[in-house]
Amino acid sequence: MARRLVVIGGDAGGMAAATQARRRDDDLEIVALERGNWTSYSACGIPYVVGGAVADLDQLVVRTPDEFRQRSRIDVRMHHEAMAIDLVAGKVEVRDHVHERTIRLPFDDLVLGTGARPLRPDLPGIDLPFVHGVQTLDDAADLLAHADKIRCREVVIVGSGYIGLEMAEAFVARGARVTLVEGANQVMRSLDRDMAGLVQAALERFGVDVRLDSPAKAFEDGTVVTEEGQFAADLVVLGLGVVPNSELAADAGIELGVRNSIRVDRRQQTSAAGVWAAGDSCESYHLVSRRPVHIALGTVTNRQARVAGINIGGGYATFPGVVGTAVTKICNTEVGRTGLSEQEADEAGLATVSAKIDSTTRAGYFPGNKPITVKLVAERVTGRLLGAQIVGEEGAAKRIDIAAVAITAGMTVHELIDVDLSYAPPFSPVWDPVATAARQAARAVDEAR
Ligand SMILES: Cc1cc2nc3c(=O)[nH]c(=O)nc-3n(C[C@H](O)[C@H](O)[C@H](O)COP(=O)(O)OP(=O)(O)OC[C@H]3O[C@@H](n4cnc5c(N)ncnc54)[C@H](O)[C@@H]3O)c2cc1C
Repeated sequence: MARRLVVIGGDAGGMAAATQARRRDDDLEIVALERGNWTSYSACGIPYVVGGAVADLDQLVVRTPDEFRQRSRIDVRMHHEAMAIDLVAGKVEVRDHVHERTIRLPFDDLVLGTGARPLRPDLPGIDLPFVHGVQTLDDAADLLAHADKIRCREVVIVGSGYIGLEMAEAFVARGARVTLVEGANQVMRSLDRDMAGLVQAALERFGVDVRLDSPAKAFEDGTVVTEEGQFAADLVVLGLGVVPNSELAADAGIELGVRNSIRVDRRQQTSAAGVWAAGDSCESYHLVSRRPVHIALGTVTNRQARVAGINIGGGYATFPGVVGTAVTKICNTEVGRTGLSEQEADEAGLATVSAKIDSTTRAGYFPGNKPITVKLVAERVTGRLLGAQIVGEEGAAKRIDIAAVAITAGMTVHELIDVDLSYAPPFSPVWDPVATAARQAARAVDEAR
């Protein structure tokens, strides 16, 4: 009898693992369970549908259930929800919402691609229907239907993670008045405060009313209550980060790790043999802090899923870890970050120096050049590059990938100066802004020695 792989979760983590396993093992029987309405979609595109740059949610679907069935012979079962895992019997208890019945599905291998959900702190009124979290296309469909129905004018974003900020821009683009309430004294805590100030300025230029030090305390119909006062809202979007969907795993006795994400080894195997996890539900290893982290990104998900799929399909692959690279566009301002911020380096016990420079995305005389600010964080004694942050206009953010490669390779800022980067006036100044920042950081390291 053919080995059976059961996949829980029909988006990137689950389906990329399933297709990779299929490529390596033609005989494998693969059953994928998805409780929602869509498979293999780009949640990353949701803010652009809300803002109107992309026509509708269907455009975000990379592969439909039928495409999986026909091209990869994966038995995709929509509206099927995994309710429990029995590791001893090797079975998943599944609620089939189509036929309103429960079945027990045997597996030889199991992939947990259950993703994450928006963090909903236990505050009065948090479950009122005007408070939305956005993670899946189903969440986005609910949000859009509600926004259209009430023709929303006043939107409050609670929390300033990048998803909240992208949604703030999207609702301004839809013509709403947007207030952002944030409990901390800066937006986007994945950046250092000085760089976050540039993002805040971009939000304010775009028309977003930013309220720092204003944690939400309660939601009442039509109002968000904070310590600073009350803000009118006919719709609220939560941007407080995500919580891994790891309860199924935990209830089955599978070990959890950092922030309750599913612990995995380097081959993406959980503490249970034959049970694998990939994506927002599981943890990663941070190559700079050398600590386990939970980083919920599509980039990480796809790489982890590839590794899990290769191993399930009989190959051998390992996932080395992450450096926390991310880019986003917020209110026409591009933001990139990788490695550790100064604060994160401090928390990891690393002594740092930093350097920040202002430059332009093209040669200063070339039409269309835009401002860019680059900040580098280096280890004080060794000069090893620990982190980078970039805020600027068009052409700025993807330069973060230079720093991501340098950090992954363990380079010092002195070595980064001498990397043979390209140059022509339409693309950069003769010294790319990242190289200019490296020169300044190298001087700071030399002075600190
Ligand atoms: C608005 C937004 C913007 C983003 N932008 C970016 C970006 O620009 N760049 C980037 O790298 N990342 C971005 N991300 C993150 C990225 O989308 C996620 O990292 C990625 O979707 C994670 O994939 P996943 O398969 O692990 O989880 P999910 O996408 O959450 O999918 C999990 C699936 O499992 C299903 N499921 C869960 N439990 C069960 C169960 N018990 N039974 C059956 N089905 C179940 C869910 O319905 C869901 O469809 C963004 C996310 C959002 C929400």
